[in-house]
Amino acid sequence: MDQKLLAIHTVGELRRAGYKTSPVRVEMRDNLVRKLRERETILPGIIGYDDTVVRELENGILAGHHMIFLGQRGQAKSRVIRLLTGLLDEFIPVVEGCDLNDNPYAPICRRCRSMLAEQGDDLPIAWLEREHRYAEKLATPDVSIADLIGEVDPIKVAEGRYLADEETIHYGLIPRTNRGIFAINELPDLVEKVQVGLFNLMEERDVQIKGHKVRLPLDVVFVASANPEDYTSRGRIITPLKDRFDAQIRTHYPRCLAEEIAIMEQEATRLPRPDAQLTVAPFMKEIIAQLTFEARASSEINHASGVSVRVTINNYESVIANAERRATRNGESEIAPRPSDLYSAYASTVGKLELEYPAEGRNEDELVERLLNRAVTKVFDRHVKLEALKPVLTYFQQGHGVEVSDETPAVDYLEPLRQIKGLQEAVGMLKPGESPGLIAAAVEMVLEGLHLHKKLNKERVNGRFAYRA
Ligand SMILES: [Zn+2]
Repeated sequence: MDQKLLAIHTVGELRRAGYKTSPVRVEMRDNLVRKLRERETILPGIIGYDDTVVRELENGILAGHHMIFLGQRGQAKSRVIRLLTGLLDEFIPVVEGCDLNDNPYAPICRRCRSMLAEQGDDLPIAWLEREHRYAEKLATPDVSIADLIGEVDPIKVAEGRYLADEETIHYGLIPRTNRGIFAINELPDLVEKVQVGLFNLMEERDVQIKGHKVRLPLDVVFVASANPEDYTSRGRIITPLKDRFDAQIRTHYPRCLAEEIAIMEQEATRLPRPDAQLTVAPFMKEIIAQLTFEARASSEINHASGVSVRVTINNYESVIANAERRATRNGESEIAPRPSDLYSAYASTVGKLELEYPAEGRNEDELVERLLNRAVTKVFDRHVKLEALKPVLTYFQQGHGVEVSDETPAVDYLEPLRQIKGLQEAVGMLKPGESPGLIAAAVEMVLEGLHLHKKLNKERVNGRFAYRA
C-alpha cells in the first residue's frame, strides 16, 4: 500500500485522498487475484498442498465463500487458516478507539455513528495492521455466546441505560474481529445454543443476547476447522450452520515420504550447537518418516484422529537428541543419529497415538516396536540387496559377533568395517556419506536389516545389542 496513507488521521483527509474501503471478502479476493497474477504463493512454508488444498482454497476465496477445513490432527489446518491474514491489506483505516474496528465512512456502532454526525470530516481514524484483524477460538463445550458475541454489561444497565441500548453490550471476540477473519477450530464441539447464535450472526446479522435482539451487521469472513468424523456424525452440527460453510476443504497428510521428510526438516526445532556438527544419513530420515506412514496405515491405530506430522517431527528431534547425548559424552564433534537411537522415538510416539482397542490392555511400546521394525525393513529393502550380503553373513557363520549400542563411539565401528568382508560394500549401498558417524549409522543399519530378515539374531546384553548368526 501507499505508505503516505498512514499519515492520514481524519476521515476527511481519507476521502480527499480517494481511499476506498471494501468488504473483507472483496479485499481478500483482490489481493488473491494480484498474487495469482504475480504467481506468488498464498501459503508460504506449507508443503504438499499445492495441487489440492491451495487450489480449493483459492477457489473458495475467489467465490467469496465461508470455508471449513476438514482433516485429522496434525494436517496444518490452523496454520493454513492463520496464513489467510496474508490476503488482507497491510493496514486499513478504522474509527479511532472503536471496539468494532468501524469503517470510518460507514460506522455501525452507535458511538461512532454519533461521532461522525458531530465531527464530520474531522472524525479521527487509526490504521489497523492485518495481524490484528484475525482471531481464533478453539471450540469447547464451555465456549459461550458471551465469549463469542457478547453480553449485557450489568454495570451499564445499573447506570440507567436501557437494555435495548447497544451501549450496554460488552462485545465478544467476533464483533471485535469485525472487518477481519474469525476462525473457529473444532467447530462440532460448540454447544447447540452457541451454534445457533453463530448462524444468526452469519445469516441474519443479528443476534439474541439475553433475550434481546441486537442488530450487528458485521463484516467478518468465517473460517472453521473440524475433524471429518466429528463433522459428519449426526447431531454434532446444526444443519443450517453446516449449510453456511459453502466450501469444504479436505486437508491430508503428506502423500509421499519425501514430503513428510521435507516438513520434518523444516519444522524440527533447531537449537544452536556451536561445538558440534549435525549429520543425518538420508536413510535415517526415511525411517522416521516411514514409521509415521506405518502408524497411519495400522489397523491398531484410530483413523478418525489420525497420526500427526508432529509425531515425525518430534521423533526426529528425539533421535537427534539421543545422538547428541552420545556425542557429548564421547567427546565427538559429530552428531550422527543411527538405528540404535531409534528407541528414543518411543517416548515421542507412544503418547500421540490413539489406539483402536485400548481396553484390551495392549502394550503401546510393543506396537511402536512392530511399526518401527516394519519401517526399518522397508527402508533397508529400498536400498540394500539382501543377496549381496552373503559375504557379510559368512563372517557371522564362522562364530563371530558384533556388539553395538547407542553409547558406542563412532570410530569403534571402523574396526568391524575392516574385519568383515563385504560390509564395506553393503554400507556403500546405503550411501551414508564419509564421516565416521554416518558410517557407524550404516553399519548398524546393515546389521539391523539382516536381523529383521531373520539372518542374524539380536540379543540385548547390558544395554548393548549383540548380533550373532
Ligand atoms: Zn464504532
